[in-house]
Amino acid sequence: MNSDYRPETLAVRAGQERSPFGEHSEALYLTSSFVFENAAQAARRFSGEEAGNVYSRFSNPTVTLFEERLAAIEGAEDCVATASGMAAIMALCFAHLQQGDHIVASNSLFGATVQLFSNILPRAGISTSFVSHTDPAAWAAAIRPETRLFFLETPSNPLTEIADIARLADIAHARGILLAVDNCFCTPILQKPLALGADLIIHSATKYLDGQGRVLGGAVCGPKKLTEEVFKFLRTAGPTLSAFNAWILLKGLETLKIRLDAQTANAARLAAWLEAQPQVARVFYPGLPSHPQYELARRQQRSGGAIVSFEVKGGRPEAWTVVDHCRLLSITANLGDTKTTITHPASTTHGRITPDARAAAGIKEGLLRIAVGLEAVEDLQADLARGLALIA
Ligand SMILES: *Cc1c(COP(=O)(O)O)cnc(C)c1O
Repeated sequence: MNSDYRPETLAVRAGQERSPFGEHSEALYLTSSFVFENAAQAARRFSGEEAGNVYSRFSNPTVTLFEERLAAIEGAEDCVATASGMAAIMALCFAHLQQGDHIVASNSLFGATVQLFSNILPRAGISTSFVSHTDPAAWAAAIRPETRLFFLETPSNPLTEIADIARLADIAHARGILLAVDNCFCTPILQKPLALGADLIIHSATKYLDGQGRVLGGAVCGPKKLTEEVFKFLRTAGPTLSAFNAWILLKGLETLKIRLDAQTANAARLAAWLEAQPQVARVFYPGLPSHPQYELARRQQRSGGAIVSFEVKGGRPEAWTVVDHCRLLSITANLGDTKTTITHPASTTHGRITPDARAAAGIKEGLLRIAVGLEAVEDLQADLARGLALIA
């Protein structure tokens, strides 16, 4: 498909080839295996001499369509879909790292990613140094001869700190290191890590790509020479995307841009409103001029995104008061949904880390994180105002 098309066009059209039935919507191929014309063709397919489907752990037409569409929107040569976002990160690591290798990673990553790097990868002899998300000098200083990978997500969760992708790419490439960016929070609609110099993108498709909280999925995007290794790992190790989930995600992608545009517009309005509330001590939103990295965010992202965090005056009791008086916002740690969600990071997503480590990371007891959906901003404000009004 013409890659000059804009992202919203690619999101609706890229990758689709109709079957002889001429279906207009994307076809869902629920089949575990594929049949061959004869023994010779089976042999050619298994050896890879002839392209084509063999078994859905290797490839499936609905999954392939999702991969082609996401690659087109990200501006990547290739994409490999996975069972979840964590499966994508695991596959990336096992495809490109081996015993003795070292990762430099941001110190504010998704919790399960921290667990993977800290507790699972060391069993395979792969170690990780966690460094300041926002200090490129710290990344450079952490490099060892055996460092193979830089890994980050930006904006960070929940404080929306921005890592400078282009600068970190320069530091990595000067030493022959790969840079992988988890682009879950922004999606290609708001941020294009490959164009900023990243080598690989990972996605939790569970979040904005689905966008309606229905299925789990993930992906690794990048040049074929790097994604090929990820594919080889996946076809053997197994955490591939199901055809059904790929079909749901295809329909999610079609509305990605209008959802992101509307959700970020809502988030910007909600963030400005929160900043004006007397019970709110501080708002964390990259689209606000008060954000310490507002200028970097403007260069790197198309908008501030749909995640807004804020600190209420007081601590845990005051934060919980706001949560407990919500009737509309969903009390859940998930994000990326059309339904707005609210969570208290210190007792949920970041509840397992020690209070000292939490304080060091700047996650205070009064902090709340909102993943803004598609409801009317006035209704979201009224829901939050109910609890805020009870804070002295
Ligand atoms: C949710 C999430 C993941 C993990 O994705 P799953 O689909 O839940 O496995 C990874 N990174 C970020 C930033 C996430 O928000």
